[in-house]
Amino acid sequence: KMCQPEPLEDHRICVCVRKRPLNQRETVMKDLDIITIPSNNVVMVHESKQKVDLTRYLENQIFCFDHAFDATASNELVYQFTAQPLVESIFRKGMATCFAYGQTGSGKTHTMGGAFSGVDQDCSKGIYALVARDVFLLLTNPAYEKLSLKVYGTFFEIYGGKVYDLLNWKKKLQVLEDGNQHIQVVGLREQEVSCVEDVLKLVGRGNSCRTSGQTSVNAHSSRSHAVFQIILKLQGELHGKFSLVDLAGNERGADTAKANRKRQLEGAEINKSLLALKECIRALGQKKTHTPFRASKLTQVLRDSFIGPNSSTCMIATISPGMASCENTLNTLRYANRVK
Ligand code: ADP
Ligand code: MG
Repeated sequence: KMCQPEPLEDHRICVCVRKRPLNQRETVMKDLDIITIPSNNVVMVHESKQKVDLTRYLENQIFCFDHAFDATASNELVYQFTAQPLVESIFRKGMATCFAYGQTGSGKTHTMGGAFSGVDQDCSKGIYALVARDVFLLLTNPAYEKLSLKVYGTFFEIYGGKVYDLLNWKKKLQVLEDGNQHIQVVGLREQEVSCVEDVLKLVGRGNSCRTSGQTSVNAHSSRSHAVFQIILKLQGELHGKFSLVDLAGNERGADTAKANRKRQLEGAEINKSLLALKECIRALGQKKTHTPFRASKLTQVLRDSFIGPNSSTCMIATISPGMASCENTLNTLRYANRVK
């Protein structure tokens, strides 16, 4: 009787915003920090506008969220208010999902902890690793220990509406939907893991697969959604699942006119999937009977994590502080505002 599950509400979503510090390039360019976080759930944008007579003035826009983190917040702090409260639900047959949403360069991967490229990036301190840490901690909890759950990791990428296995040389995978609207990514590699180090190795392997063969490191990875999952199985059957999604950059190509055809198609696909994601989250929140999961591969693949009586979602919208990113930042904040 020790592990009587406490029912979660039907579907909950927690929406947070995280501002990153001005980077060196922005500082050198004398870009202005136009974002303030006056309290722990408010984001203010000080937008510079030009009047007809060409004088500039500031217009403040205010947004409220479940939490707002300023540039001094650590991954650990962000984790505590976003993914951490959802971890235990997967031990109670729950489905949890955490999204990082924002413009390229705003800190999605830094938050998730999926990159090794930079000097200051240590994936052992990102949300992937922190979830793993707590999963292995909870496994030893007397309430769950006796279940003898097994832990598996998957890591895949969705690019141009196709799914690629990052743990299997980017093998292209088919997504099947059976009569019961159950979704299966056929042949997706599920790697058994037995400690945090195993998980970090797996993330490292996936990341190197993600960026390999790319001329510019950021080019491809920012145009794809990366989905990392921690799966619990009970006697070979799915018990609970945590999906951590590093979404493709949401910026609209300001340079679409000069961009090539491939880039335009990529952009269209990303817009479509981010729009579908928004619509699905909103539909779930409003308890609509129809949720448009099929509108994109991203939402289709995540369908089983969204529905179900015990599902919960959090979103971390990452923003750049600079004036130069104002347009993208406002788009991010408006999107985050719509899903909460
Ligand atoms: P994205 O994945 O959204 O494209 P990244 O996570 O790669 O962006 O971040 C871009 C750069 O900014 C990286 O060098 C990263 O280390 C740095 N950065 C992002 N967020 C933070 C933060 N909160 N604190 C310090 N550096 C950050
Ligand atoms: Mg990234």
